[in-house]
Amino acid sequence: MTSPAADLPDYAPIPQASRGAALNEQGYHVGQVERNLYWVTDGVYNSAFLATGDGVVLFDAPPSIGHNLQRAVDEIAAAEGVSNKITHLVYSHHHADHGAASSLFDDVVRIGHEETHRLLTRDNDPARPVPDVTFADSYTLEVGGERVELAWHGSNHSPDNIYIHFPDHDTLMLIDIVNAGWVPIYNTNLTEDVPGYLGAPAIAMDYPWQHLISGHLSRLATREDVELHQQYMADIEASAREALASVNPVPFYMHYGENVWAGIRAHLKTVTDQAAAPVIAKYTGVLAAADIEEYTWTTTFAVMQSLRLDSGPSGPVHP
Ligand SMILES: [Zn+2]
Repeated sequence: MTSPAADLPDYAPIPQASRGAALNEQGYHVGQVERNLYWVTDGVYNSAFLATGDGVVLFDAPPSIGHNLQRAVDEIAAAEGVSNKITHLVYSHHHADHGAASSLFDDVVRIGHEETHRLLTRDNDPARPVPDVTFADSYTLEVGGERVELAWHGSNHSPDNIYIHFPDHDTLMLIDIVNAGWVPIYNTNLTEDVPGYLGAPAIAMDYPWQHLISGHLSRLATREDVELHQQYMADIEASAREALASVNPVPFYMHYGENVWAGIRAHLKTVTDQAAAPVIAKYTGVLAAADIEEYTWTTTFAVMQSLRLDSGPSGPVHP
């Protein structure tokens, strides 16, 4: 029997700058961001916590880190001589992959956007209890003399994804927008609102910070990482716009006749292939996984569709 991995393709090596922290024996890394703000990674997902004199505030609870969240808190609390009791849990957004270890923590005050409350009520997942405290636009969380500013600036990756600013730690936490040193996974990081996704990095850059906790992979992000991501997305947008304008759709529809869906598929596949190719070439070796064609291709497809449906026009008006 042949292994299902036997014919898998090879890809460009991961750029050195895209690599991050090594994991310990339990499979996690906990690092100091600034002062009493720490971040935790399992190499794929990120979480963060603030170790205050009145208890620990946890930001997201990815199930892949799971019980290692408490181990990371215990490790730091023992070293710093502070409480290891998690008293608060902030949800960045409602998605299970960032929040489904929430139910591991009893007796905590959960905080989230009001849309997070609505979506978690809808999803009815016992692993993600609804937030006890909700807000619409902004919320200042104060625990043990520390201050965290939560804000919602419109939908992006998800309808409820918030900006978590630590003004006294020079840090912003914004999940599932920028992957430090890596391309977005699939269509704009599995985003629901493409214009919101494209606009989010500029909103992030309006905050003062030096460290970005981005939710994924194994290092913190810098302002340069956000700028590189913006350049990648701007290149995709420009390339998609150009391909939409330059590919003549008529031959595809003529070829398929009454099978109009086949005509659309051939037209938009040609547009996306043409738009994605120069971006894949430019960013291979710069952003990890740029050469995994599905990622840049599906992101280009999502941006191209947003150009048609959100920005418009979707096509010429019939005379
Ligand atoms: Zn998400």
